Amino acid sequence: MEKHHINALKEIVGEENVLTSAEDLYCYSYDATPGHAHMPDAVVSPANTAETSKVLKLANENRIPVYTRGSGTNLSAGCVPTKGGIVLLMTRLNKILEIDLENLVAVAEPGVIVADLNKEIASLGLIYPPDPGTVATATLGGTVAENAGGLRGLKYGVSKHYVMGLEVVLANGDIMNTGGKNVKDVSGYDMTKLFTGSEGTLCVITKIISKLVPAPEAKKAMMAIFKDLDNAGKAVSAIIAAKIIPATLEIMDNATIRTVEDYAKVGLPLDAEAVLLIEVDGNPIVVEKEAEKVMEALKANHADFVQIAKDDAERDKLWAARRAALPALAKLRPTTYVEDATVPRNKVPDFLREVSSIAKKHNVTIGTFGHAGDGNMHPTIVCDIRIPEEMERVYQAMDEMFKAAIALGGTLSGEHGIGLGKLPWMEQQHGQITMNTMRSIKRALDPNLILNPGKLVGEC
Ligand SMILES: Cc1cc2nc3c(=O)[nH]c(=O)nc-3n(C[C@H](O)[C@H](O)[C@H](O)COP(=O)(O)OP(=O)(O)OC[C@H]3O[C@@H](n4cnc5c(N)ncnc54)[C@H](O)[C@@H]3O)c2cc1C
Repeated sequence: MEKHHINALKEIVGEENVLTSAEDLYCYSYDATPGHAHMPDAVVSPANTAETSKVLKLANENRIPVYTRGSGTNLSAGCVPTKGGIVLLMTRLNKILEIDLENLVAVAEPGVIVADLNKEIASLGLIYPPDPGTVATATLGGTVAENAGGLRGLKYGVSKHYVMGLEVVLANGDIMNTGGKNVKDVSGYDMTKLFTGSEGTLCVITKIISKLVPAPEAKKAMMAIFKDLDNAGKAVSAIIAAKIIPATLEIMDNATIRTVEDYAKVGLPLDAEAVLLIEVDGNPIVVEKEAEKVMEALKANHADFVQIAKDDAERDKLWAARRAALPALAKLRPTTYVEDATVPRNKVPDFLREVSSIAKKHNVTIGTFGHAGDGNMHPTIVCDIRIPEEMERVYQAMDEMFKAAIALGGTLSGEHGIGLGKLPWMEQQHGQITMNTMRSIKRALDPNLILNPGKLVGEC
């Protein structure tokens, strides 16, 4: 980028909102994804939609790449400015603009932190359900652009199930509105859904209209330990077949159980092949009945140990094991890759077995935990990125893991997105025709390829 571009950007957003020192640029050269970093030329923080539009117009006319960023917690290198240019930081657009109780809708700017929206609506008895592990730091814009999910995905879905409308700025600076507060709206192509999950490659989101839902009145948590992985898989299927959709239905594999026990000493048997953590929520009477049915399904499928939380303190204790999974694994080695390959829920035991044998074959440490109810697994590879020979084995293992998920009818990502990390396997999952169609959409909306170039659909 040239000096006059920087000056023009300073005129748009104010001098103090354009960072160019090496120290500042370094801080925005990476995100939460290991192994990807590149220095931008400038970090630009607009205050509103009009400034965002002017920045994009300037970037488009001068073919300057733009990498939109919320809190930078994504795990697919979505914010890494791989071709230099502008990191467009959206955190100054951080106002909750409206809570509409008659329509149960929130209107908010993209820089609002997800947990702050939930704090704001808690006293009204409402929740915004998408709850990634990073709710306390991730922005609404980042979660919508990434189509983020979380622990409650099985019952409550992911971000796309809540986004009703958007205000976006297109690559050329045009401001566009999609959807709105209508519960039913089938007028034209569903642009809201297209932009949700577009990972900063099609537009910059500047306003989000989202659905809110009543907070559940009661919750009941249960844990089951299995010495046999297949029995755990059958128990998951039996719960769903009993027409119970728990808010959460989590699984941890043996490698994770051993690591968690070593780290947090929560009393898990080291020879257990799987731990299931289940939580049902809703109306108190229904919750009691559903919890009973879940316990029946666990016992009928030969759980070696079951426990139901009697109160909040016991519930917290049960969840301690699951909460410890990622920190316990991350503590083992300097580098942590949290993947999110996803398979149909009845294939979870097969996938866990595949991952375990791939880990042994390549002598890499992989602990898998995740959302068994929706098949969204988090095989977590811990390694040391500074050791090239080890990384060769890690990449081999990743390759085989993603191919195994695809072969089981699964997908590369249940919630973390594609970015750069999973690009090598996109064609394998989707085929050439679908990839060409996705690239045509990219070229139509961003003909100069300035928005997050090279990500999600690769080079166009
Ligand atoms: C420890 C840990 C746990 C996690 N747990 C989960 C989990 O349970 N579930 C889950 O789904 N994810 C999880 N994540 C991933 C991550 O937190 C989510 O992807 C989150 O949605 C990213 O929000 P962010 O504000 O940090 O976005 P960023 O990382 O800043 O951006 C994410 C993507 O969105 C684009 N973007 C950001 N803002 C905008 C905008 N306004 N307009 C257009 N594009 C934009 C960026 O270009 C980038 O491609 C986890 C990450 C970590 C590190």
